[in-house]
Amino acid sequence: MTDKLRGLIETLAERHSLSLEDYAYLIDHRCGEAAELLADLAVRVRQEIYGNAVFTRGLIEISNICKNDCLYCGIRRSNPNCDRYRLTKEQIWACADEGYGLGFRTFVLQGGEDAYFTDELLCEIVGGIKQAHPDCAVTLSMGERGYESYRRLRRAGTDRYLLRHETADRVHYEKLHPAEMSFDRRMQCLRELRELGYQVGCGFMVGSPHQTSGTLARDLKLVETFQPDMCGIGPFIPHKDTPFRAEPAGSVELTCYLLSIIRLIHPPVLLPSTTALGTIDPLGREKGVRAGANVVMPNLSPVSVRKKYELYDNKICTGEESAQCKDCLNQRMRSVGYEIVTDRGDIRARPQNFRKAPQM
Ligand code: SAH
Repeated sequence: MTDKLRGLIETLAERHSLSLEDYAYLIDHRCGEAAELLADLAVRVRQEIYGNAVFTRGLIEISNICKNDCLYCGIRRSNPNCDRYRLTKEQIWACADEGYGLGFRTFVLQGGEDAYFTDELLCEIVGGIKQAHPDCAVTLSMGERGYESYRRLRRAGTDRYLLRHETADRVHYEKLHPAEMSFDRRMQCLRELRELGYQVGCGFMVGSPHQTSGTLARDLKLVETFQPDMCGIGPFIPHKDTPFRAEPAGSVELTCYLLSIIRLIHPPVLLPSTTALGTIDPLGREKGVRAGANVVMPNLSPVSVRKKYELYDNKICTGEESAQCKDCLNQRMRSVGYEIVTDRGDIRARPQNFRKAPQM
């Protein structure tokens, strides 16, 4: 590794910030030795804040009906081969009840942008989960909604919201999305969610078509400036019924490299080792945690719908029952020296990084 590369990594670990040019340099000039150094530093700083705990969130995929047409996504509206479904509120509550019994204390409700899930209905669903399980956190990942909608969902008890920004580069954003979707709107949503007191997650795919070290540098700068509570990153994986069907998938190696960098930019961030990472490599999620991730998200959706929530080809964990998914991940984490913990797993701010308490 060059002296310059080593110097940049040391600066990053100390100051949690680099210029756009330096982030791009770190990516362009990466090598095995640099990846190891970054992972060592990332694991060390995560250890100081979280010990060897890995948090777990039960993922409930509530609908694959979507009004959007994102070019990368298997449940885009113009995919006629997608077998559409939505869960009833009773089914969603049943998933949460089962998850609670298995020890989950955070539920993530994710889905396409499906108009069926009005504010009234989502508030009732979230309210019902919070009432039955007051010690749990509820996260929504239902895409772009208006300020008023986010406000009502927050008042109904939603604690967190995941909305990956997908790419922090406007021109790149426009290559991944149809003209009717807007980069400014996406960013506006993230700001509104923050303002409403949510714990907010942004994130991006690694290796999405037209991505460069320059666009990735902007993603890293966004993490540095926005300081999200969560950051979801995973490899892009092509889906056979999308315009990107013939594009190559992202790599485990670059995803892990970026996980380490993100941990160093924002040490307390909650960083999932994603299902997509486990899909392109059977040991992907273990590798993610060893690079600095500290969250896993086993699937709690009814087995009957799991194959239908196919964002990308060959998605794993679509055949097992929830309990099996949980046990499998427990074992995987233990195999690399980590322990899955069952508390809500809120972000742990360091004393010098004090955050204002969320206001309702
Ligand atoms: N409708 C919600 C949830 C989207 S699905 C929203 O807009 O936020 C969750 C995430 O899956 C997306 O944000 C995207 O980053 C990821 N995803 C979609 N298609 C993918 C693909 N082909 N490969 C990898 N990840 C993908």
